[in-house]
Amino acid sequence: MTKLNLSSGASYFRSPDVAITAAIHALNSGKTYYGPAEGTEALRQTIADRYQQDGITVKPEQVLVTPGTKQALFNLFTVLLRDGDEVVIPIPAWFGFNELLKYSKGKLVTLQTTLENNYSLDTAELRNKLTTKSRILLLTNPSNPTGRIYSKHELETIVALLHDFPDLYLISDEIYDLDTYGKPVTSALGCKGPQERIIVVNGFSKNFAMSGWRIGYMVAPEEIISQCTDFQSSTFSGVSMFIQEAALATITHKTEALEPMLSVLQEHRRVMQQGLEAIPHVSFFVPDGAYYFFPYLGHYIGTITPAGETINSTLALCNYLQNEHKLIVVNGDKFGGIGHVRMSFAVERPILDQAMSRLKEALLQLKPVPATIGKL
Ligand code: PMP
Repeated sequence: MTKLNLSSGASYFRSPDVAITAAIHALNSGKTYYGPAEGTEALRQTIADRYQQDGITVKPEQVLVTPGTKQALFNLFTVLLRDGDEVVIPIPAWFGFNELLKYSKGKLVTLQTTLENNYSLDTAELRNKLTTKSRILLLTNPSNPTGRIYSKHELETIVALLHDFPDLYLISDEIYDLDTYGKPVTSALGCKGPQERIIVVNGFSKNFAMSGWRIGYMVAPEEIISQCTDFQSSTFSGVSMFIQEAALATITHKTEALEPMLSVLQEHRRVMQQGLEAIPHVSFFVPDGAYYFFPYLGHYIGTITPAGETINSTLALCNYLQNEHKLIVVNGDKFGGIGHVRMSFAVERPILDQAMSRLKEALLQLKPVPATIGKL
């Protein structure tokens, strides 16, 4: 049985040719020395222009190029968080935030959103979670794992809360912002609100299949950029110049790089949706962005496998799929979605097709636990 892996956060696509050509050209031209810690002028300008095209004014001085989006987040956590500060994150959310917070001063506070409510964020509940210790509200738009996109109205309602909490920053992680299926993402930078406390992080790993290049960026008020540049300069120095050249070429030829990937993703999304619809008792949200489904498989927890093993948790279900059917998905508990699993459709088509039929077969082999007969 071949192994079918739907668990990766990286898509299977090759990085854009323009990126590869530009990096090779930069290496051949000797761009192998230290560059400016904050990023090259040209790349910062191009990133600023990218927002300008959506009518959002961003100055190049508001951009810091980072070695990945993770690093942009870590940098912000290091600079902004003080002892006892809270970081409020609606869940389900990417487990990486948690991992990063382990090395920061902040304490995680989660706010549960649910499939039944289409993962919408209840502003009253959010307000209840916020305290004077809340320092960062971290949103992911589109969400990993749910694929949910906040509308501009929703975002502005959330941003309005910042007025009542003067120490609170909004960080919007928009790393999947170009992987969308008909519903475009409004950047938090384009929302009305206290601009001095709105920050966006983004990167090239997801939109442009460049996860191994390690490049991302943040857009923030100049004062924060200056503090984060200082941290970056003291620790990493800056992103390699030839990688920045590759990123610059990619944004410059954005459409050429994106379109072939997006048309495949659109089709794969349809295939995964149909595959899930064909399995009884599975409920899910159809993602508007990113490249995952996050179905609820709770019906299949509390069952028995053909080998007589009890499936009593999401982990046991994932282990059964992996060990008995060589199908690898991510345990949704890690994202704060108990009973869910995350499945990527950014995989090769034959893998996707086989995975969907294997998932159905595997789940249908599970039988309910027989009703306990009263003790004699
Ligand atoms: N944010 C989110 C929501 C992610 O899913 C990921 C990668 N899984 C990252 C940030 C990290 O991205 P990068 O590769 O740019 O560090």
